[in-house]
Amino acid sequence: MNMLLAATQEPLLHQATGEAKPEVTVPLPPEETQPCVIPLPHGHIPSWLEPGSPDWKKHEARLGSEELMQRRTIYLNGFTDSRGTHWCGNCFWRCRLMNLGEQLGYPALDLVGLAAGYDAWLRYARDASVVGVEDAVRAARRMESS
Ligand SMILES: [Zn+2]
Repeated sequence: MNMLLAATQEPLLHQATGEAKPEVTVPLPPEETQPCVIPLPHGHIPSWLEPGSPDWKKHEARLGSEELMQRRTIYLNGFTDSRGTHWCGNCFWRCRLMNLGEQLGYPALDLVGLAAGYDAWLRYARDASVVGVEDAVRAARRMESS
């Protein structure tokens, strides 16, 4: 159901970026336009990915503007997990958790109170706090290596 939502939003995004193309100086759309399986606004683009900000300039000196633009694009594009659910750039770890779940067969993770099964994992990945997601990734990794 949410996969459907992401799929219908994507062509719109392409349209939007396509229309903006002739005006090269127009900045990329703000991060709010990113499709994400989490519908509510969450997180904010880091200041070092905002072109022209002091943090951007600091990173630019170290990485070069091309590398930095690439990282910005990756952030703005977000991530797709192995079942095709789309996550925004803020949700890297949530996406990572779903991919780990896919590898492991979505087992129960008692350490973080996560029940077995795809639906439980998706609910957890969407609703848990940042710390909760990190804990689950850690627990899943421990399982992966055992
Ligand atoms: Zn997100």
